[in-house]
Amino acid sequence: MAEPSAVAPMLQVRGLEVHYGGILALHGVDVSVNQGEIVTLIGANGAGKTTLLRAISGLQPRSAGSIRFQDKEIARWPADRIVQVGIGHSPEGRRVFAPMTVHENLELGAYTRHDRKGIASDFDRMTALFPRLKERLKQAAGTLSGGEQQMLAMARALMGRPKLLMLDEPSLGLAPVLVQEIFRIIQEINAQGTTVLLVEQNAHQALTVANRGYVLQTGQVLLEDTGANLLNSELVREAYLG
Ligand code: ATP
Repeated sequence: MAEPSAVAPMLQVRGLEVHYGGILALHGVDVSVNQGEIVTLIGANGAGKTTLLRAISGLQPRSAGSIRFQDKEIARWPADRIVQVGIGHSPEGRRVFAPMTVHENLELGAYTRHDRKGIASDFDRMTALFPRLKERLKQAAGTLSGGEQQMLAMARALMGRPKLLMLDEPSLGLAPVLVQEIFRIIQEINAQGTTVLLVEQNAHQALTVANRGYVLQTGQVLLEDTGANLLNSELVREAYLG
C-alpha cells in the first residue's frame, strides 16, 4: 500500500489576515501549493485574490497568520528576500517598464542573479517560449500590445528563475486567441518544472489547467477542490462560469 506523502507543501498559508486601514480584506485564509502543481484562485472582484498574492510577495503587510515557503517562515521578510528564495510575481496590469526595451525588461527580471551562463540560457528559453517577444527585443515595452506586455511581465518574472511563479490575471483584457496562447504557455512553464499559483477571472480556463483550485469570497476560502471537481460544482457553475 502506498505510504501517505510526508512531503510538506511548497507554500503553506495559514490564518492569513490583511487589513487596509480598518477594513479586513483577508479573514484567516488557508491556502497551500504543492511542488509541481498549478493551483488557481478564483472569485469575484474584491474577493481578495490580488491581496493574497501581494501578501505572499511581501508587498502587503499582514496583520496575522503564517506564510511558509519550503519550510521557511517568510511572512515578515522584505519583498527582495522573497524573490531571492524563489517566489516570482507577475502582477495585475502588466507592470512593465514602458520606456525600457523588451531586452532591458528581461534583464531586470534577473537582477537578483549572478550566474551569467544561467541568465543567458534563461534568456534563450524566454525567447523560445514567447516568440512574439523575440521579434521585439529592441522595441520600447510601452509600445507593445496588451497581450505582448502580459507576456513580457510573465517572462520577466521567469527570468528570476522562480520555483513558484504567481500570475495575477494574465489573460485579463486579451483577445481570445491570445488567451489561448497565455494558457498554453502557463502549462508549458509548469511542464518545464515551475510551480504555478494563478489568479484568474477566466474561471473556466483556469480550472481546466489547474490541479487544484480555491474559490475566494469576501476575503475567505469558500471552496477548495481539484480543478475538475470545481468545474463541475453547481455553485462554481452558477456563480463563476456564467
Ligand atoms: P480584483 O479582481 O478586482 O482585483 P481581488 O479579488 O484581487 O479583486 P483585492 O484587490 O485583493 O481583490 O481586494 C480585496 C479587498 O480589499 C477589496 O474590498 C478591495 O476594495 C480592498 N482593497 C484592495 N486594495 C486596497 C487598498 N490599497 N486600499 C484599501 N482597500 C483595498
